[in-house]
Amino acid sequence: MRIGWLGLGNMGLPMAGRLVDAGHEVLGYDVTAPARRAAASRGITVADSVADAVTGADAVFTMLPNGAVVREVLVEHSALVRAPARAVFIDCSTIDIADAHDLHTAAVSAGRRFLDAPVSGGVGGAAGGSLTFMVGGDAEVLATVRSLVQAMAGRIVHVGGPGAGQAAKIVNNMMLGINLAGLCEGAVLAERLGLDAATFQSLAAASSGDSWALRTWYPAPGVVQSAAVNRDFDGGFAADLLAKDLRLALQAGERTGTPLPHATAVAEAMHDLHERGHGGKDCTVLVRSVAGSW
Ligand code: NAD
Repeated sequence: MRIGWLGLGNMGLPMAGRLVDAGHEVLGYDVTAPARRAAASRGITVADSVADAVTGADAVFTMLPNGAVVREVLVEHSALVRAPARAVFIDCSTIDIADAHDLHTAAVSAGRRFLDAPVSGGVGGAAGGSLTFMVGGDAEVLATVRSLVQAMAGRIVHVGGPGAGQAAKIVNNMMLGINLAGLCEGAVLAERLGLDAATFQSLAAASSGDSWALRTWYPAPGVVQSAAVNRDFDGGFAADLLAKDLRLALQAGERTGTPLPHATAVAEAMHDLHERGHGGKDCTVLVRSVAGSW
């Protein structure tokens, strides 16, 4: 199939690369030159514009920072109408539920099909093709692109109608953020109690302190290969992106009258990282705030 891919960052690049490996023709576009260069060396045909990337596409994926950018690319840059009528639009970014509803509506008005399909599994899951896709929209539309998405997925779950994928993702990431805070506090306390980091991590992974964050992101050097602490917290899942997800969860909490004190505390911690100039670093850089070791 011919695929248009918009947003070739930490997640978009390895995801689009999986489609290249599966034999699809992928035309990608990103606003930054380094992202375009990395895409070219991963076998993606680099387009000069949003319009070029989607021309002739059977499916268009977006993997962008937030809902405003997805709207800019699909609606203001006219990707929805530049792509052929047969194209299915699959937005894998994490965006607000209301934005996802608006994009479903805009797609329907343009005579196009749209799915909100945010993912979980991080950059490792993107590279390894083991992401969980949480899909909102028409199940029949998902059926038409399921085999395509499969090249990037460990699991594809149809959660419900428009916006349901984003609702699931926002709640998931709120829980991840709270786990992350516990992980960073636990890692520092364990170290200060004289515990060997690798021994403690494997013990906790087999005990009730286990979490995906503990297994994938343990924030002490040399314990978990996939952890950003081993790369000076570069790449991975930026603190600013987790801050965005927590904001979306807190807004949803307000709308539904749900008290979220723990998510509120982690959102404040992410805001603090941003203020210190570390918003672009992986969110596990929080461990430095806990340790007071900047
Ligand atoms: P990123 O910042 O690395 O990538 C986003 C890319 O979009 C960047 O390369 C940027 O240049 C590009 N971009 C911005 N505006 C654009 C435009 N107008 N046209 C084309 N390209 C544009 O972020 P990421 O980590 O890849 O995350 C992308 C999305 O996936 C976010 O919504 C994030 O919340 C979500 N997400 C991230 C992770 C993770 O672990 N990094 C995991 C799951 C979901």
